[in-house]
Amino acid sequence: MEFTFKPCKIHPKHQMVLCCKKCETTICAICTTREHAGHEFLDLEECNIRIRLEQIRKIRDNVLPQSELQLQKAKETTKETKQNVDIPRSVMTEKATRIKEIVDSILTESLRELIMLLEKWIIKKKKFRNISLRCKLYTRNVHFR
Ligand SMILES: [Zn+2]
Ligand SMILES: [Zn+2]
Repeated sequence: MEFTFKPCKIHPKHQMVLCCKKCETTICAICTTREHAGHEFLDLEECNIRIRLEQIRKIRDNVLPQSELQLQKAKETTKETKQNVDIPRSVMTEKATRIKEIVDSILTESLRELIMLLEKWIIKKKKFRNISLRCKLYTRNVHFR
């Protein structure tokens, strides 16, 4: 699941640009002062990065150890079957290795996407900082006049 910029369901004239930490939903600027007043907010990109991180963590914590366990089991099974029946011994190991490869590629892919998201976000933050810096300078100049 990923959050994207869409019109708010409660305030359709406004785009959902934030994410409410408490309600785990996307909201618009109006929502922050009404339905979600007093809640904590994140910007949408940051939210997506967090979701992506959570997904990667889940893969790492659940899927990866499982596929490693399967690989281990397969190796043991092949060892056993080798002693009893003479079946192609690499079949089981190959299967498990393939699963591990798939998981690895998913992980690599998500990490790559995450890095791209992070970079975009950092650029955006920098731009924003530049703009607000310029605004500050401008207002200071105005004050001096
Ligand atoms: Zn709204
Ligand atoms: Zn909320």
